Amino acid sequence: MQSYDVLVVGCGPVGAVLAARLSAAGLDVLVVERSLSVHPLPRAVAADDEVQELLDRVAPGCLADAVQDVPVRFLGARGQPIGALRFPAGVGGRPGLALFHQPTLEARLRAAVAAEVRLGVALDALSQDQAGVTAALSDGSSVRASWLVGCDGAGSAVRAAVGIAWSGRDLRRWLVVDVAGAVPADGFTYRCDPVRPSVDMPLPGGHRWEWLLEDGEPAFDPAPLLPAGVEVVRCVEYRYAARRASSWRAGRVLLAGDAAHTMPPFAGQGLGAGVRDAWALGALLPRGEVDRYEALRGPHVREMTRLSLFLGAVLETRVRPAAALRDAALGAAFRTPVLGPWLGRGGPRDSRSGVLEL
Ligand SMILES: Cc1cc2nc3c(=O)[nH]c(=O)nc-3n(C[C@H](O)[C@H](O)[C@H](O)COP(=O)(O)OP(=O)(O)OC[C@H]3O[C@@H](n4cnc5c(N)ncnc54)[C@H](O)[C@@H]3O)c2cc1C
Repeated sequence: MQSYDVLVVGCGPVGAVLAARLSAAGLDVLVVERSLSVHPLPRAVAADDEVQELLDRVAPGCLADAVQDVPVRFLGARGQPIGALRFPAGVGGRPGLALFHQPTLEARLRAAVAAEVRLGVALDALSQDQAGVTAALSDGSSVRASWLVGCDGAGSAVRAAVGIAWSGRDLRRWLVVDVAGAVPADGFTYRCDPVRPSVDMPLPGGHRWEWLLEDGEPAFDPAPLLPAGVEVVRCVEYRYAARRASSWRAGRVLLAGDAAHTMPPFAGQGLGAGVRDAWALGALLPRGEVDRYEALRGPHVREMTRLSLFLGAVLETRVRPAAALRDAALGAAFRTPVLGPWLGRGGPRDSRSGVLEL
């Protein structure tokens, strides 16, 4: 049976960052990924300055074509501007916000992985003892590793195999539409319209819209709302969720990224949280300091989840009087001498998670 220092299950963005970092540290790493190619549908679009820095350390230039530094605008119930923010440049002078194409990013991260990668191979089962983990793979082989890290997404088979509880809640349904083509845009816009809340943003070579859907409503057709001449490259419905694994470690098995936690995308922090996990674990594992992992990462993930849920609640208000109150309160907050400038710089979003120095 072949043996490795670390078996990474899943080569999405989180598995790729982890594998690249562990092999750069000299560990013998095997990555198994059940798909033959990167997930073709863009999900994440936004990265803050710290996440850009981490991604760039793994795959230099991987965000070179990102749309950078656009203003983030909040429009109220009648479409009136109620406030805008511009995240300041951060670590290494990187823009506070970069908007990217996830499949392109994932392909560039994968190309930076110097470890052995088996594509089209899934983890089927695992067992562990005090010295390591034995994994049965879908190609019929079994491998042994000192550590196994589940980077296998929200539906994690690794998490299920070691019996870690997964708790939290389902949230609302949203329709996500990406188009290719030139679309005039004033920035990243939260449209807090109680009739149909939506978000839209420029992307490299195109634009994205996200519309809230109500359970039980007749099918919503976004076509009349799209500009003429654009090509729809994806139109997919998601039910967002906020969930967390009760522990990110069981013996010699660890979890990272969506396998450990999910949040709605309103603060653009889900992928970023996973990249930070991978960066942290990539430093702590070779040093024998895995005990620090969850304590280091947990608080920032919790904070970003709270922020994402708060932004969702602000945006998703459907009752007109509540929406009018929200607009008045938010508008007043943006105009207040100290609070206003703080909100204008991004308010409670803190991109410094403490992993950069690891
Ligand atoms: C609409 C939408 C918008 C979003 N916007 C943002 C955003 O702007 N910013 C942000 O930071 N985040 C955002 N996110 C979240 C982000 O997309 C995820 O957090 C991120 O993709 C998670 O990465 P991951 O590597 O943990 O998991 P995944 O991307 O799910 O990758 C898991 C990988 O594991 C593989 N796998 C699964 N099971 C097995 C197995 N048994 N054996 C082998 N391989 C396996 C899968 O094939 C997959 O390649 C958004 C999400 C959605 C849905």
